Amino acid sequence: MNRRQLIKAVPAAVAGMGMNPAMGQSHENSPKDGGLPLEQYEPKSMLHAAETHVPRSRFPLIDFHTHITWSGELSGKDKVTFTEKPEELLRVMDRKNIHTMVNLTGGYANGLAESIRVLQQAHPGRFIVFTEPWWSKIEDPNYPKFQADQIEAAHKAGAKGIKVLKILGLFLREHIKEGKLVAIDDRRFDPMWEAAAALKMPIAMHISDPEAFFLPIDRFNERWEELHAHPDWSFHGKDFPSNMELQEARRRVMRRHPKTQFVCLHVADSENLDYVTECMDSHPNMAVDIAARIGELGRQPRASRKFFDRHQDRILFGTDAVPKGYETPQQVFEDALYETYYRFRGTEDEYFDYAPARVPPQGRWRIYGIGLPEGILRKVYWGNAARLLGLSA
Ligand SMILES: [Zn+2]
Repeated sequence: MNRRQLIKAVPAAVAGMGMNPAMGQSHENSPKDGGLPLEQYEPKSMLHAAETHVPRSRFPLIDFHTHITWSGELSGKDKVTFTEKPEELLRVMDRKNIHTMVNLTGGYANGLAESIRVLQQAHPGRFIVFTEPWWSKIEDPNYPKFQADQIEAAHKAGAKGIKVLKILGLFLREHIKEGKLVAIDDRRFDPMWEAAAALKMPIAMHISDPEAFFLPIDRFNERWEELHAHPDWSFHGKDFPSNMELQEARRRVMRRHPKTQFVCLHVADSENLDYVTECMDSHPNMAVDIAARIGELGRQPRASRKFFDRHQDRILFGTDAVPKGYETPQQVFEDALYETYYRFRGTEDEYFDYAPARVPPQGRWRIYGIGLPEGILRKVYWGNAARLLGLSA
């Protein structure tokens, strides 16, 4: 069975909903017609649940995880492209009470200088820019020292931290694209991690992805629709490490560099909060952000609430915001994105959408608010990120 045949086969399970043949209604998708294709199924909740609209954060906040520029990544070109004009961003920021946005993918060398000039220098306090490693130089014999020096130069230029995309662990190979995958704990990066510690630059580090991306794209995969739409997001098979191998490689880095501050993005491993707690308990230099994972946190509200209670000094607000046009409704930078985050954290609303989309984009479930108290909200919205970024309280 190929994937297209599969999608026709799945609907038998859901075809009985949304119609009532006993009442004699004719319906274009009645069971007799052979079912309802999954991609057309848009069930509306019949719960009479309270809906709290939270148009604005009660406190000013720092969005620690955004992408206002993209850099050359593996191309080796030290350029950035802007995804939105700062003036447009500031309009939404002011409406939503976002004091500061951290642009993680600020690039390196000339690209970094431009990110800093257009964002950080033109709008002091409102934007902060991180730098990225110059991955394409990995095979230069002098790379370890070169990369550490680059971090020092980036710091001088004004960069406040370092972003490591999942390029490391899943894309970067020897000979850049063809050879063996370069391990997350490869020794060539040791001087960079140490330079970050010396300069007090936090490392915002994304490795791995949802666990379902490492499994076969079959009828048991809870993200089947997402992977069906984006088969290139799958890391199943080939020579890809497992999610747990990637997680454990990052732990070896955190253990080896105890003075370096790591922010493990996307809750590190949001489907396995017990494992993340074990990691945070054993690595004092580890914090997390919650970007693009309220779909995961919100479907386990009791575990999430406990997680926020326990790690309230080490969780950062982030969204992974990208401008309109991307195929990830859970990340599109607009009012609705922030309203959903505020609702999740600040209310006890039940069973609501985690993204403004026709069908829940990361999986067919809805989420529950965790109603955090003001003390925790203030730390997560501001205090924790401010401390790591060296800003005033
Ligand atoms: Zn991101």
